[in-house]
Amino acid sequence: MSAPITARFAPSPTGLLHVGNIRTALHNWMLAKRHGGRFLLRIDDTDKERSREEYVEAARLDLAWLGLEPDGEERQSLRLPVYEAAFDRLRAAGRVYPAYETAQELELKRKIQLGRGLPPIYDRAALHLTDAERAEKEAQGIAPHWRFRLDHDQPIEWIDGIRGPQHFDPAQLSDPVVRRADGSWLYMLPSAVDDIDMGVTDVLRGEDHVSNTALQIQMFTAMGAAPPRFAHEALLVGTEGKLSKRLGSLSVGALREQGIEPQALVALLARLGTSQPVEPIANPAALVESFDLATFGRAPARFDEADLDRLNAAILHQLPYADVVGRVPEGMDEAAWEAIRPNLTRLSDAAEWWRVVTGPVDQPEFDAETKAFLAQAATLLSWSEDPWHSLTGTLKQASGRKGKALFLPLRQALIGRDSGPDMAALLPLIGEREARARLERAAG
Ligand code: GLU
Repeated sequence: MSAPITARFAPSPTGLLHVGNIRTALHNWMLAKRHGGRFLLRIDDTDKERSREEYVEAARLDLAWLGLEPDGEERQSLRLPVYEAAFDRLRAAGRVYPAYETAQELELKRKIQLGRGLPPIYDRAALHLTDAERAEKEAQGIAPHWRFRLDHDQPIEWIDGIRGPQHFDPAQLSDPVVRRADGSWLYMLPSAVDDIDMGVTDVLRGEDHVSNTALQIQMFTAMGAAPPRFAHEALLVGTEGKLSKRLGSLSVGALREQGIEPQALVALLARLGTSQPVEPIANPAALVESFDLATFGRAPARFDEADLDRLNAAILHQLPYADVVGRVPEGMDEAAWEAIRPNLTRLSDAAEWWRVVTGPVDQPEFDAETKAFLAQAATLLSWSEDPWHSLTGTLKQASGRKGKALFLPLRQALIGRDSGPDMAALLPLIGEREARARLERAAG
């Protein structure tokens, strides 16, 4: 691809973004960045009843948190006159037509077709109404909804960026309703109008949109525009099946509040469902560099929170102090961060380890022999570049203890627990005076 590309993420602000939605956003962002193109945020808010401003704001915040800043934002609710004009042109060209069936009538038609073993395709009865019949409906006060007339002579074909060559016979599809009787829009036509106006070159979305694409391709053509490139990614499923069941807990905002690092979510979602390995890559440029639709699989990708936790830990273990300053406990400096970082699965765990450094610590009750050993440790403690190794070295000689008998009581006395960060890194942070005081206290 050499010409500049424009991709877009087009959420309907009717709920919080979850990992599935944001994965599509991320892939569009990566596609745009990979080719030096633009990434647009388009708010699909033509549904006045269900759209909420708070969800628009949440979507912006989620994108910003993940570093997926859009190069522009558009809103469908501000573009209604544009859709009206496109609709008028299509109507004048005979590509949209009024239909008067009620939902019950349509349902009955479907049942009859299915009963006869026929596919439930809209029979176009409304297309064949005479002017007089239409006038009669209007006189009865029945407002029409509007259907887009598919061109049955124009086979629908595209090379899908993920699914490969696609073919649909328009005669096997129903003319889609594009506008309701109250004048409101269904998503399909405004979306195609926008993709044309906004110069969208690439539409990358979930495979639940494949049949919409078939219909929209004819809309692009009917409006005199070349359709964009399309690619449909396999959906994301949760460990227990459909994601929709757990949408609340798997919202981007919920993961943020749980203390997941944005880099971890990005690293996971960037590669999930592709043939490329999921790796703790904290630098988005590296992920962008390797982005390739050809590696996307057809099978549903499985989102597992355990993977996210693992990746979160691995990302934390490499994050430099500069990336976390302001989010770590007060007083925690670079050396402390580097000592504690290998033990974290969430950044919030840093507080607990920082308390281990600053004290006080809860020590177990030691037996008399261990107390004597710890008293010896307090006396032998001397400060150097590497106080832990000098202490354990001298103590080994002096006490004859080794292995667990040597290290465990020291650990328990100094940090109040059996395991944790490398003591060689922790001890300098605790400091000589405090370390001696802890050993003396343990020695009772
Ligand atoms: N608002 C539509 C949706 O959320 C957009 C689909 C598209 O990307 O065209 O499903």
